[in-house]
Amino acid sequence: MLYYSYWESRCSLKFLMKKIAVVGAGVVGLSTAINIFDSIPFVSVTVIADKFNVDTTSDGAGGLFRPNSNTTPGIPVEKMKKWCADSLEHYTTLLSSQEANKCGVSLMTGFLFGQEPLDDFVSLVSHTFQNLSSEQIRKMNFNYKYGAQVTTLVAECRRYLPWLMEKFQEKGGHVIKRTLKSLEELVGHYDIVVNCTGLGSRFLVPDDSVYPVKGQLIQVEAPWIKHFYYFEDDLPAYIIPCGDRVALGGVRFKDDFTTHIDPEVSRGIWQRCTSKIPSLKNAKVLWEWSGLRPHRIPLRLEKEIMKFPKGQLKVVHNYGHGANGVTLSWGTALNATKLVEEFMRPNFESKL
Ligand SMILES: Cc1cc2nc3c(=O)[nH]c(=O)nc-3n(C[C@H](O)[C@H](O)[C@H](O)COP(=O)(O)OP(=O)(O)OC[C@H]3O[C@@H](n4cnc5c(N)ncnc54)[C@H](O)[C@@H]3O)c2cc1C
Repeated sequence: MLYYSYWESRCSLKFLMKKIAVVGAGVVGLSTAINIFDSIPFVSVTVIADKFNVDTTSDGAGGLFRPNSNTTPGIPVEKMKKWCADSLEHYTTLLSSQEANKCGVSLMTGFLFGQEPLDDFVSLVSHTFQNLSSEQIRKMNFNYKYGAQVTTLVAECRRYLPWLMEKFQEKGGHVIKRTLKSLEELVGHYDIVVNCTGLGSRFLVPDDSVYPVKGQLIQVEAPWIKHFYYFEDDLPAYIIPCGDRVALGGVRFKDDFTTHIDPEVSRGIWQRCTSKIPSLKNAKVLWEWSGLRPHRIPLRLEKEIMKFPKGQLKVVHNYGHGANGVTLSWGTALNATKLVEEFMRPNFESKL
């Protein structure tokens, strides 16, 4: 009798269980998949993606938590602050946990410099932000009118993404490697789909308001560089230590879909970074990387009922994080989870 009741309850639970697919295994998709597990009972969650870890854009990101007032154009500032604050809380909790080393998140102090007043939005959500006086800037051997010292977080995605995936699988998450040509392929297989495909949404949804902003980085071995630097010049440059390497970068090419490394661009990055921090001339170049930031104005975080010849599909879109996917991922994942919950409410079903 007891045996029968056990199986009976298992079967009814299985019947009740909602099947959710999260499409995308970048920092946005994996954060969303984990949050759904953590917040919603009786769900089975499957991550579907054609690229994982080193093959994603997220893997190459500088990983710095550095939002600015233009981080999410078209999104009300209070909403953006909430996403940033939620992400900051998540990363800060990890910092003091036993997982800190494994997940690749660390606290880092660095410097911003520019000839124009600096965007100090980050001061609202970072650990510390202090403007530097001209005297302090001069003592650091920099020739800028404005400077600030900021303490914020950096997530080394080469460790953070595999860590997120491990957490997801520990919770019972499923993973499928597959390229989708259309979300219609998921009709009838999942109750709700969360679309976290970044630039892939341009073709998958399709949504031509998502566009690439190409970036290129030189990864070097320079263990003496302990702080990050941002130089807000006409041709900007940044230097971000991340794990056992330092990322040199700063280029942004709108609507450039190519992913090859342009040697001319690399020369420019090298020249700008080594002219600011001359000791970098002695750094060993490890590899170069280029990636396409998935921009959209505004970032898309909303529900949609998509209608296809095969049937309709409840979709939560969560894409278009531009240059701030690492910064915003946890906050937008929490928000996307709420939208999934809204889809699951009984009164929502009856409205369809
Ligand atoms: C040079 C550079 C430096 C950066 N530095 C920072 C930084 O310091 N801080 C910061 O916050 N952000 C930074 N970013 C931005 C950050 O990398 C992105 O915002 C972030 O990676 C976007 O994450 P995502 O999960 O949306 O997309 P992605 O990482 O691109 O993941 C998309 C996922 O969707 C899947 N997918 C797409 N289409 C399909 C399909 N049709 N079928 C199946 N799967 C599909 C892919 O396989 C992949 O798994 C940087 C970006 C670049 C290029």
